[in-house]
Amino acid sequence: MTTTKAGPMLEIDRVAKRYGGTLAVAEVSFTIGKGEFIALMGPSGCGKTTTLRMIAGLDTPSEGEIRLWGRRINEDAPWERDAPLVWQNYALFPFLSVVKNVEFGLKQRRVPAAERRKKAMEWMERLGIAGFAERGVDQLSGGQRQRVALARALALEPEMLLLDEPLSALDPHLRVRMQSELVRLHRELGITFVCVTHSHSEAFAMADRVVIMSEGRVQQIGAPREIYRRASNRFVAEFVGGNNLFSGTASSAGNGALRVEGPFGAALAPRPSEPAIHDGAAVTLVVAADRIDIASARSGIGNEIDARVVTLEVVGSSATVFLETAGGVDLRVQRSLHEIENTPLNPGQAVIARWSQDEGYFLPA
Ligand code: ADP
Ligand code: MG
Repeated sequence: MTTTKAGPMLEIDRVAKRYGGTLAVAEVSFTIGKGEFIALMGPSGCGKTTTLRMIAGLDTPSEGEIRLWGRRINEDAPWERDAPLVWQNYALFPFLSVVKNVEFGLKQRRVPAAERRKKAMEWMERLGIAGFAERGVDQLSGGQRQRVALARALALEPEMLLLDEPLSALDPHLRVRMQSELVRLHRELGITFVCVTHSHSEAFAMADRVVIMSEGRVQQIGAPREIYRRASNRFVAEFVGGNNLFSGTASSAGNGALRVEGPFGAALAPRPSEPAIHDGAAVTLVVAADRIDIASARSGIGNEIDARVVTLEVVGSSATVFLETAGGVDLRVQRSLHEIENTPLNPGQAVIARWSQDEGYFLPA
């Protein structure tokens, strides 16, 4: 059979999955382009693994359709899909040596011994584990095991690689290193990666596009930067972190702007084209923490809120300043240490939180 490889590579179309009375996936739709790095992100239990298992063919959707290059594959077996899955717990065979683990899938495909050894060694070279070929996998560190699992999957030369929380068993230092290694591998191989993670920093650091899920549904799909700059609802704004959500009452301010007044103080923001916001409507204004400046005095430019310093958290060269407004609303500001070195920020200090009117946006009601 010939397949035309036009349009999206994979389409997840209104897919649901029920296990008895449990709705693991309520309704999920998204597409994956060839060569993309997609992250499926969301809190524990939101249906990420179930979605990935259906893509891998380890589970069948209860409703909806999964299409590969336009062809329904709901009932196709895993080995017909060319999309191996790399698990968080690696799922290596403890009684086999490293090289035998890497060769495993090739052996199942009846690749002759010499050829599969050669292929396995190439992938092990590439992933920096060739030196451990004859070791048992129980004699490896977590990072090395993860590389064995990756080599075993990649030795099959798949069109798509599925990864379920591939970094979560690694210590933080190693996690960051493997993160950039996965990005490098993806770029070099040019194949499609679909990676499940509950960590927004991981998803945003690696993926071209992120699919954010909650309670079995897609909440937002977009490039990391788009999602950071404009969360499409409250769940996303809170889950991705680093956002201030101010509630208040809207009123017209002329010049295409709305004024919001609430316990946090008052601020102007661009009036959205839709939905229409009427005077007196209750609204939530979102301002990203890294778009707010701290000053010691008012300048009369942009939005300015009186606040006091609660505490300062410094990680490496970046600082998070926790403020409280006169009305008792928490406010969070993220700056580089360099930017705030001349501003006194002792607890209790009175400061001005300032941001440009264009930086704020409204959550849908
Ligand atoms: P995530 O990977 O996002 O943490 P899962 O896809 O593993 O979430 O699970 C989604 C929901 O479906 C959870 O409530 C989970 O308990 C339930 N679930 C997953 N697999 C099964 C199963 N085989 N039988 C019954 N319930 C399941
Ligand atoms: Mg999971």
